[in-house]
Amino acid sequence: MELNGVHASPVSDNALQILQERYLLKDLLDNCLESPGEMFMRVAKWVAKAEEKWGDLSLVKKWTMEFNNAMVSLKFLPNSPTLMNAGRKKGQLSACFVLPVEDSLPDIFSTLKLMAMIQQKGGGTGFNFSHLRPEKANLKNTGGWASGPIGFMKIFDAASGQIKQAGRRRGANMGILDIDHPDIELFISCKRNFTSLKNFNISVGVTDKFMLAVERKKDWFLTHPQSHEIVKTVNASDLWRNIAQNAWDCGDPGVVFLDTINRQNPLLSLGKIEATNPCGEVPLLPFEACNLGSINLSKFVSRKKVDWEALMKMVHLAIRFLDDIIEVNYYLQSEVKDISLANRKIGLGVMGWADMLVKLNIPYDSNEAVELASQIMKFIRDNSREASTNLAKERGCFPNWPKSNHFPHRPLRNATLNSIAPTGSISIIADTSSSIEPFFALAFQRKNVLNNHSLISINNQFLDFLYENQYPVTEILEKVLANGSTQDVKILPPEIRRIYKISEEISPEWHLKHQAAFQKYIDNAVSKTINLPESSTVEEVEKTFFHAWKLQTKGITIFRNVKGMKKVIEKGITV
Ligand code: ADP
Repeated sequence: MELNGVHASPVSDNALQILQERYLLKDLLDNCLESPGEMFMRVAKWVAKAEEKWGDLSLVKKWTMEFNNAMVSLKFLPNSPTLMNAGRKKGQLSACFVLPVEDSLPDIFSTLKLMAMIQQKGGGTGFNFSHLRPEKANLKNTGGWASGPIGFMKIFDAASGQIKQAGRRRGANMGILDIDHPDIELFISCKRNFTSLKNFNISVGVTDKFMLAVERKKDWFLTHPQSHEIVKTVNASDLWRNIAQNAWDCGDPGVVFLDTINRQNPLLSLGKIEATNPCGEVPLLPFEACNLGSINLSKFVSRKKVDWEALMKMVHLAIRFLDDIIEVNYYLQSEVKDISLANRKIGLGVMGWADMLVKLNIPYDSNEAVELASQIMKFIRDNSREASTNLAKERGCFPNWPKSNHFPHRPLRNATLNSIAPTGSISIIADTSSSIEPFFALAFQRKNVLNNHSLISINNQFLDFLYENQYPVTEILEKVLANGSTQDVKILPPEIRRIYKISEEISPEWHLKHQAAFQKYIDNAVSKTINLPESSTVEEVEKTFFHAWKLQTKGITIFRNVKGMKKVIEKGITV
């Protein structure tokens, strides 16, 4: 594949390869029609077109340049669908959707159709299947048996598997079932054999009432979603153990804390939130879409200090960018368009957190890191609010503002502002550590699930450090490539090995502390995988889940590092 046009690439070789495979515009013969720089300009121009609506046309150029600079410098990137689709005909730019699943065949299949169309254009979809009657329930109309939530999830999964998003990414879904659904026990173990529901992350929707029942070892009632009759009585702590056991075995299910989510649902007057997007960072109402963007924190360190001034400016610019996307976005269906425009939800988050910490010489597993996490996220939250309020003054509040809990005190352009996304692909494009995760590995082979190509990734800062200090680079990298870690490379001083700890070497408590520190200042949610060592027990998983509820996270996913089973990328669906 040859690149046409200018070749001065602002991105790394790994990023270039991914961009060529999946992001850059191509002709019918698979030749790229643009360079990465031209891609950023295509996106900047398309997004800044929204500015025409708000008046001064001469400003469109100014915002085009500012948006372009933010992306070219890799300081800020929008979610993948925006990079892929901006400027294309019917370009859907949002990454996150939640769709309703009602208990009738026509409704289920119209949702399936919409899911297929959304995924074809690069979006991920989340569903709560709890309104479906349980498996083997009698069907009134035909006298037959119902397939139940899991039967229908398999159909959704098969459809996603076929879509592959025009060869650009696999379809991604979140499937949620509430803890009182009669099929919950089947659901909890439905991904055990690793081959089923490959295009789904699954989570159990739990309530505070259930968590209290677990704490007090009480009975728990599974009830029919329509008749509300009790179908079965189980012990709450047995059910809880069952969730932990399955998560211990295979990483699924995760848990979403529905009451915590709804306590912070700014539009409770429109209904309770029942589901999130595929990776959990955006709880949404049915048909809502959300656009994400992430600031690359590693670019905001100057002379070993956080550059607060520059960060502030970038937050303001990014909020404007994400709000503009809502205007130039293509919405597949009127239900999606109406609610997305009425609530104008966006999710500005971060990537490059682990890289930033290394630049500041702060170990991930330290109180200093957790305190800085809170400080940074509070700063981003406060500035996001200020930026959205300024936009509200210029452009008006989001239409459902009078129905929201922001009314009347805080005028805002957007019902929600912040999310921490996994940044599975955009962190590769930005050549930084993903999201708020510790380093996955300092050197590793990354496999592309679509074409089986492998790329070798080496942490840049680590490589620079080795060269600058004249270490035997090849010898060290050979060791590090074996398992991604520096801990056995005794030639490196202990303080360096401490700073460069990888994900599985950070204890679960520290993972969770980071998630909670960021979550505290986030109105949407945080996507985070809590890594547990292979030797951890089911009781530890239970405790970690329980602790997550106490810390008021909105959800939790764990992954135990079982040798030979290690996923190439956490939760794998973004590659
Ligand atoms: P990216 O880095 O590509 O922008 P993220 O890894 O940050 O994406 O994921 C953000 C959201 O994008 C996910 O929570 C999900 O809603 C959606 N998403 C991620 N991977 C996929 C995928 N393979 N297909 C569809 N949507 C996806």
